[in-house]
Amino acid sequence: MSRPPIREDLTELAGYHSAQVDVKIRLNTNESPAAPPAAFHTRMAEIASTLDWHRYPDRGAGALRDAIGALYGMPGAQVFAANGSNEVLQTLLLTFGGPNRTVVTFEPTYAMHGQIARTTGTRVVSGERDERFMLSADHAIDVIRREEPIITFLCSPNNPTGIVESEELVRAVLAEVEAVNGLLVVDEAYGEFSPWSAVDLIDEDVPLVVTRTFSKTWAMAAARLGYLLGPAWLVERLFAVVLPYHLDSLKQQAGVAALAFSAEMEERVATIVSEREKLLTELTRLGVEVWRSGSNFVLFRPPAGDGRQVWDQLLARDILVRDCSSWEGLDGTLRVTVGNSDENTAFLAALGEILETP
Ligand SMILES: *Cc1c(COP(=O)(O)O)cnc(C)c1O
Repeated sequence: MSRPPIREDLTELAGYHSAQVDVKIRLNTNESPAAPPAAFHTRMAEIASTLDWHRYPDRGAGALRDAIGALYGMPGAQVFAANGSNEVLQTLLLTFGGPNRTVVTFEPTYAMHGQIARTTGTRVVSGERDERFMLSADHAIDVIRREEPIITFLCSPNNPTGIVESEELVRAVLAEVEAVNGLLVVDEAYGEFSPWSAVDLIDEDVPLVVTRTFSKTWAMAAARLGYLLGPAWLVERLFAVVLPYHLDSLKQQAGVAALAFSAEMEERVATIVSEREKLLTELTRLGVEVWRSGSNFVLFRPPAGDGRQVWDQLLARDILVRDCSSWEGLDGTLRVTVGNSDENTAFLAALGEILETP
């Protein structure tokens, strides 16, 4: 058998996958516990039945980009959409990364930032956070000054810690990024939960893009749709790199259709926030170490730091959470997505049981 060698820099690369296990209660990938409203399903059926299936999609996804831009008071020219914000990130890396270029991340953070950079042959340097996973501006500035990265990643609220980065920190990082002629990418996949957004700092002359997604608060993880907001000149460059017709017609129209239900989205966010506060209170009561979250998930560390064992025992009770216990810096921790009220109650009851049993 003949096996052509894969790229040398990829031989050690492990994929980034969350377990897809058939369980009753899935709290491991930060999806919305509720589906989009019934009227959205009806609208999608109409769209699918009248679509020009024999034609290529609108390559520039004009209607979708205009509709997204309108949400933020920006022209569609400042919006780039793709198959999930992961493809947005990949297109950024294909355009700005590559051999002899460096990106900076601050671990622990969203693992795909480093992962996608590596698959594009870009060198990855990680800065540090303190033991509560807070990032200091002085440290971030030092790392950026030293490494002169082409891309610096921030994630706010940060996955998997839930921490919202302060505006002061983001502004300080942005100033240093500008000084080294780099680009700051702020991943706001959970931006709808945040009290502030880096979107307000976007300007044609500022090296900043903000990425967002339909996968979480918009309850459309199945659709694979994400976008970035940034300078129009940069969006134009991304279009030169991304595959032609990368966004199919159905998805483009699904995105536009979804935006008509923003009131329902905001209601889901409010429900999740109140459920999250319940989770935080109850987890603390159970004697579990928690991190205050500004998102739709909670990072916690069971007593004795026995994350993996607790994960197994939750799974045995048909509940799937994210096992972060072996991730660098996250020893013993688990991450639970805020589910609906019944799911959260079941999770807390199961965890209580597990922690009681010696
Ligand atoms: C879930 C998530 C995404 C979403 O990726 P999609 O490809 O849009 O589904 C991006 N960034 C972070 C930090 C996430 O947690």
